[in-house]
Amino acid sequence: MSEKRRRRETTHPRTGFWIGDTEVVPGSVVDIELEMARLPTRGPMTLPVRVFRGRIEGPKIWLSAAIHGDELSGIEIIRRALEGIDVHSLRGTVIAVPIVNVHGFLNRTRALPDGRDLNRSFPGSRRGSLTARLAWLFMSEIASKCDYGLDFHTATSDRINLPQLRADLSDPQTRALAEAFGAPVTIDARTRDGSLREVATKRGARVLLFEGGEAQRFDEASISAGVDGVHRVLEYLGMHGHHRRKAGRTRRRYVATGSSWVRAPRSGLFRSAVHNGETVSVGDELGVIANAFGDDAIVVRSKLAGVIVSMALNPVVHQGDALVHVAFVEG
Ligand SMILES: [Zn+2]
Repeated sequence: MSEKRRRRETTHPRTGFWIGDTEVVPGSVVDIELEMARLPTRGPMTLPVRVFRGRIEGPKIWLSAAIHGDELSGIEIIRRALEGIDVHSLRGTVIAVPIVNVHGFLNRTRALPDGRDLNRSFPGSRRGSLTARLAWLFMSEIASKCDYGLDFHTATSDRINLPQLRADLSDPQTRALAEAFGAPVTIDARTRDGSLREVATKRGARVLLFEGGEAQRFDEASISAGVDGVHRVLEYLGMHGHHRRKAGRTRRRYVATGSSWVRAPRSGLFRSAVHNGETVSVGDELGVIANAFGDDAIVVRSKLAGVIVSMALNPVVHQGDALVHVAFVEG
């Protein structure tokens, strides 16, 4: 916060809605550059934010992506979702932060230059590491001002994810929000320490984490599932006006009580026989692991039953490597 703004606030308490040094008035779309830290080359590094504030008061929701700098599909989900928002008929406020980890995005890396994982660094601190400061900035300027949050991720490198939600389904309101989003698979998942979802939830927001596609790529199936999900959530929260974009057709959806990886029983080259989205039963063949000549082949069988939600992409596997991620679906 600037000194000027601090002084102004002490003498005239604010009544409007502010992000950084910018007041966002009803019925406006505002672009804000939140100052993070200076670059080693001198210029400022900023966090780009676009805010849609409807004329009518209503829920406040943030859309965030690229908390891991190499996870790009969420950026495109947010871009397309914003195209369908008409600020004149919007009820409430949408805060879009499509590239949270700006350093990682530019460097094409998951982490920040200090090597830390932003999604294990919340709530962060004003005077901590570069990563902790970014976490603090996002918490104080975005998440703490919202009632709801949608955080978009992809698989880590060398894996691909089926479009899916992670949410705390033990909370009825979060569960209803996840049902409104309508991802192909929704997994009841505990939050990880230091994640945005964990910290924002503790502070009273309802948060869904979306995973889909792979790092460094746009994945069309995940993007369209994500865009449809955003619009269905806005509709569910009563935020959309009559100009809303029509949400996509309903597909088969699963709710899962948890998930686990089937791991390589031996090192070698894995030739997969299954795909994301397929259902498997205990004992089903998932693929074969053999050496480079095809010798010593063993069939990998599923020890789990459910829907495949993530797959390893690199066929070179060491014993114990994660191969196929299975979600335990209900019913
Ligand atoms: Zn991620």
